[in-house]
Amino acid sequence: MAITREGMTVSQVQQELDADKRVFYEQLQGFVGLQIGPPQPAPDEVNIPMIRHLVEAVGDENPIYLDETAARASRHSEIVAPPTMLQAWVMHGITPRSNEGDGPYEQMNRLLFSKGFTSVVATNCEQVYDRYVKPGDRLSMTTTIDSISEEKTTGLGTGHFVTTRQDYWDANGNRVGSMLFRIIRFRPAAKSKPKPPRPAPATTHDNSWWFDALKEGKLLIQRCKGCGELRNPPHPMCASCRSTEWDSIEAKGTGSIHSYVVTHYPVVPSFDYPLPILLVDLDEGVRMVMNPIDATPEDLQIGRKVTVEVHKCDADLSLPFARLAK
Ligand SMILES: [Zn+2]
Repeated sequence: MAITREGMTVSQVQQELDADKRVFYEQLQGFVGLQIGPPQPAPDEVNIPMIRHLVEAVGDENPIYLDETAARASRHSEIVAPPTMLQAWVMHGITPRSNEGDGPYEQMNRLLFSKGFTSVVATNCEQVYDRYVKPGDRLSMTTTIDSISEEKTTGLGTGHFVTTRQDYWDANGNRVGSMLFRIIRFRPAAKSKPKPPRPAPATTHDNSWWFDALKEGKLLIQRCKGCGELRNPPHPMCASCRSTEWDSIEAKGTGSIHSYVVTHYPVVPSFDYPLPILLVDLDEGVRMVMNPIDATPEDLQIGRKVTVEVHKCDADLSLPFARLAK
């Protein structure tokens, strides 16, 4: 019989682990059924302009959404909104909501984080429609933690599926539809495989010359032969004089950070995270996107001077990287 250092048999250790998981699962179940925050009112009533934007964007030509006559002849007898727009009606854009705070969802996430389930991926979404909504309807939404699974092991890692349910209500308090949204909060699987190469850039007839020059260690900037204007990224026609004649100059490799983002998701295995991405103002007057080299997100600052170095990423790809000035 196999005995561990603590003097327990392997099966005793396993039982203890299973018991820990059961206790944790029970703790998680305490969140099921809780509503997350107060009801969210839609900023606008259901309206034709937003319907128009949606159906034009997705190419939906069903006349019942915009054509009064066709809608009257349909079984709805009036214009209705596409059912899939449910979520669009209550979206609040980029303005943060005032009531965001420490509710059950944040507490549940903290509990999951405490056990190392720090990564998240959305897995699926199901919508149910109780009735069509129509212009003039004023909707609101409530969000509830619908279910939390037992610990499951997937290709991404081990974790718990968390399903939230958004219910959409009309002004009379009748439900018009519902959406189940499922994510998995998981512990990332241990990395054992070597990093795959960076995804190859999309090269075309119009930009492959720029990547070819990088392979020879040269950072080029496209120049219009008509008016002399520099441009980046490479493209076939000058935006100022519309000339399609061009040549290029070699960049001095100096500039400053115009702006930057620090990416956390989605995790592409070719990169290390958090992954900073810079928009660099080259001293020649064009902007280029690149990663910094030997820098942490804390080192980044808008306006900070950089020097640009060309580095080989793999046999087929070299790219510019920004080194922060001291
Ligand atoms: Zn030009």
